[in-house]
Amino acid sequence: MKISFDLDDTLVCRQNNIPQEPNPIPFFLKPWFREPLRAGTCQLMTTLRKQSHEICIYTSSYRSPFYIRCWFWLYGITLGEVINQTVHNQHLQNSQRRDRPSKDPRLFGIHLHIDDSEGVKQEGKKLGFRVCQISPQDDCWVTRVFEEVQGLSDRF
Ligand SMILES: [Mg+2]
Repeated sequence: MKISFDLDDTLVCRQNNIPQEPNPIPFFLKPWFREPLRAGTCQLMTTLRKQSHEICIYTSSYRSPFYIRCWFWLYGITLGEVINQTVHNQHLQNSQRRDRPSKDPRLFGIHLHIDDSEGVKQEGKKLGFRVCQISPQDDCWVTRVFEEVQGLSDRF
């Protein structure tokens, strides 16, 4: 199954009370990779990859796909597709659609998208793509994603 994750307020939570992954980045690379990664991300993604799922990033930010790929690689995670706002805009333009959803995982063959945004959840309902909505405050977020993936796994 192809699974995508949002970054801001889903995997990157800057609020003080939210636990972060231990930072494995060597000191000489730290000036380039300053962002924290939410605790649980590595365990979740490593397990999903072992179960043969493809892990993608789908962000409305303009962080470059190369930066995102390197950043996750430093945490031991190999990403599949990386979609930022530029890639999203290009695909939307090519599809010549009239509606302009903020995200459309179907354009990239993604089966499940993980996001904090209520707006994206509503777009999913309207356009027919699956969104697992996760709040930054949810301590059990890893379990919730696993459960969602498990519930869909026999379908794909
Ligand atoms: Mg977000």
